[in-house]
Amino acid sequence: LLAPARCAAAVGTAAPKVEGGGRRSSEQGQLAVAPARLVDELVEEALVWSSQHGLVVGDKNHPRSGKAPGVGLLHAPFALLPMSFSKVYWDQAVELAPLFNELVDRVSLDGDFLQETLASFSLSFSRTKEVDSFTGRLLDIHAKMMKLNKKEDVRLGLTRSDYMVDGATDQLLQVELNTISTSSNGLACGVCELHRNLIRQHERELGLDPESVVGNTAIAQHAEALAGAWAEFNNQRFSVVLVVVQPEERDGLPVAVVYFRAGYTPNDYPSEAEWRARLLIECSSAIKCPSIAHHLVGTKKIQQELAKKNVLERFLDNKADIEKVRKCFAGLWSLENDSIVMSAIESPELFVLKPQREGGGNNIYGDNLRETLISLKKDGSNELAAYILMQRILPPASLCYLVRDGTCIRENAVSEFGIFGAYLRNKDRVIINDQCGYLMRTKAASLNEGGVVAGYAFLNSVFLT
Ligand code: ADP
Ligand code: MG
Ligand code: MG
Repeated sequence: LLAPARCAAAVGTAAPKVEGGGRRSSEQGQLAVAPARLVDELVEEALVWSSQHGLVVGDKNHPRSGKAPGVGLLHAPFALLPMSFSKVYWDQAVELAPLFNELVDRVSLDGDFLQETLASFSLSFSRTKEVDSFTGRLLDIHAKMMKLNKKEDVRLGLTRSDYMVDGATDQLLQVELNTISTSSNGLACGVCELHRNLIRQHERELGLDPESVVGNTAIAQHAEALAGAWAEFNNQRFSVVLVVVQPEERDGLPVAVVYFRAGYTPNDYPSEAEWRARLLIECSSAIKCPSIAHHLVGTKKIQQELAKKNVLERFLDNKADIEKVRKCFAGLWSLENDSIVMSAIESPELFVLKPQREGGGNNIYGDNLRETLISLKKDGSNELAAYILMQRILPPASLCYLVRDGTCIRENAVSEFGIFGAYLRNKDRVIINDQCGYLMRTKAASLNEGGVVAGYAFLNSVFLT
């Protein structure tokens, strides 16, 4: 079916024996440093399994990929074996999921807070010098809804809170909270099945228990939440769920739920027509996933504002919950903070500079970060508001086998761990507030960015230790 997999890393490497059940001793690391022969075998089996079970993505190099169904597909990039992950971190992330769901919803109801925090974006986009017209336009739709006093009784949030373990402090720190198009749930479920299957097939050689690979329920639970919202819309004979994947989709039936798979990047709005469509959807009675307010809560700027002293207290009542949420916040600063800007110019390797964008590949690091900050400061204050500064989280690295394009490499790698969440509410009735499976992504420690689709990271699963 497939050409024999070449395992570059295994060639010529004195492969250590599998010892101690194949586990590495570090808290977080890829399992099993396996003999070269076994690695080759696992890679080939994994590639066959991926193509047989739909663990595939579009092949960018194929001219008809994405145009004709079933044409131009390639296995998704994956780590060969799961990532061992401490139950302490797992439990913490699972416990946080409903708290963040609730937080998103409460913040979304505070229209003034969103408008004030993001004000620099809305003010600026009408001026000649644009800070960030994209966020400004989203905010403009939000302002229109406030003027109309538009209430969303039924609110559906499909979220994903992403974390990294900070090596210096052993703390699980939040990278970001996604509220729109929290993708990769299907692939995350697929790689979990792949790992279970590989371990089951080689249980004795690897000395691992396939049941320790945490099952992933992301797809089923998110589908359930969408169906739940559709039921709340209460027009079950005729209404449909509209999934926005391309601009200007039309439908002849009442739309109960609109799911935005697209709409999170400026590229999704090539003309005024897309903005009109977004506004039209927002004005409609359909349940939006996300509503414009939920979308804005997911911006980096709001993340930074929530980390300020006494801001969480505006939205959460329970002191213990507030502490739990705050504990996972990394250092976050606005660029109005001169002393932190100076620190970042001096030691850029300790910071990440983030614009208000989604989808990976937008952040600024290292020398670039220093130069950007210097030139932003020189140009004056207006554009500074378009960015936030974040503490750079440096997770512990470990050797991993990573497979892309049929080739396996052995890399010193770090991981980012996301917990999906679902939140469905009708007025005062919370129908769903749950964690819904996970996304484990592994990337070379030397890389800055981390997206799977963006081409940096590899899908992985969790092996609880
Ligand atoms: P996006 O919404 O585009 O996914 P993120 O904030 O998740 O934006 O940043 C993209 C990637 O950059 C992350 O997946 C992660 O690999 C890396 N990254 C972001 N913030 C940090 C940080 N504070 N420390 C280390 N790496 C980070
Ligand atoms: Mg994001
Ligand atoms: Mg991200």
